[in-house]
Amino acid sequence: MELIRIKGVDKQYNNGVTAIYDLNLKVKKGDFIFVIGASGSGKSTLIKLLYREEKPTKGQIIVGGIDVAKLKNNKVYKLRRKLGIVFQDFKLLPKLNVFENVAFALEMYGNPMSEVRNKTLKALELVGLKNKAKQYPDKLSGGEQQRVAIARAIVNGPKLLLCDEPTGNLDPDTSYEILKVLEVINNLGTTVIMATHDREMVNKFKKRVIVLDNGKLVKDYEKGSYVDAEDV
Ligand code: ADP
Repeated sequence: MELIRIKGVDKQYNNGVTAIYDLNLKVKKGDFIFVIGASGSGKSTLIKLLYREEKPTKGQIIVGGIDVAKLKNNKVYKLRRKLGIVFQDFKLLPKLNVFENVAFALEMYGNPMSEVRNKTLKALELVGLKNKAKQYPDKLSGGEQQRVAIARAIVNGPKLLLCDEPTGNLDPDTSYEILKVLEVINNLGTTVIMATHDREMVNKFKKRVIVLDNGKLVKDYEKGSYVDAEDV
């Protein structure tokens, strides 16, 4: 089954920079894809197009049956509730503890309290942080903060998890742990798309890899391939 279809997409920003050029891509349900390429090659833009932070200038993006470019602003929530997003800088709320950070989105959607509690504890267990539920973000290591951010992103069981440089601030051992968590989430059925510079992780984890170069998709490696230094 197909989860994402991108057809003939260009993204030109208002300043005239074309960040994505004639992109075509199919993503199957359950895929794990690394998006790699030099800084400025369009990785973040691709992620932003997928969650409708940016709209394509041309072409079509279908995510889970939703035509993302045509989606009205007041319907963007329909897309957003199908996906979770993880950033390099964690973006946790400093005044809320770990449990509250993860529960926040569920509460906003008006889930009953018992369900919020069950889902939140399940997500924290999955990322190995149930024992830190009452801690505040500033008491956690970078790797732990990122695991909280991942728990928050998956707490509602999204079909798709988008990650933009999730290991960008982390050392190699911690990055490895984060990738292990993402792999578990993927094995439970969530499609994962991760933009990264982290060649070590890309080569260790052997997933499908797409390479962007100046906004063009120049390579699409099968799962399990080894990536050359010049591709990252
Ligand atoms: P990457 O994530 O691979 O570093 P980006 O998608 O962030 O690449 O950027 C791709 C290109 O688009 C770069 O030339 C960048 O300067 C440009 N760009 C990114 N965001 C914007 C923006 N909001 N406005 C104008 N140009 C942008």
